[in-house]
Amino acid sequence: MYELSVAQELYTVARARADEMEVRELESVRVAVGELAGVTPDLLRSAWRFVTAESADENSRLDIDLRSGRQICPQCGALPGPDVIAYPAHCERCKCHMRVESGDRVELLEIRFQQELALA
Ligand SMILES: [Zn+2]
Repeated sequence: MYELSVAQELYTVARARADEMEVRELESVRVAVGELAGVTPDLLRSAWRFVTAESADENSRLDIDLRSGRQICPQCGALPGPDVIAYPAHCERCKCHMRVESGDRVELLEIRFQQELALA
């Protein structure tokens, strides 16, 4: 499952940042997921729970912002029609391989840490 390695990578980065700042617990991590990134949001959220299980961060949340994808044919410049449900691999007009212009990445946007309670 691809989502598992994505979640593992995100968690490694977030935890390293928390360690750097000497924070015990992550509160949430926000990521942007492109529609063409090959990542299913629900599976990514499950994967996040799996990789943080039984760690200090097991209650942390993964927030996902979906970003739309954009494709264009490098040959004739055609865009997928508005009635296209899935992103086509090939141009309808010239059968050329479609080029992905955006929405094919997972981006880490924000890491929030649990606020430590100051002891009086
Ligand atoms: Zn084309």
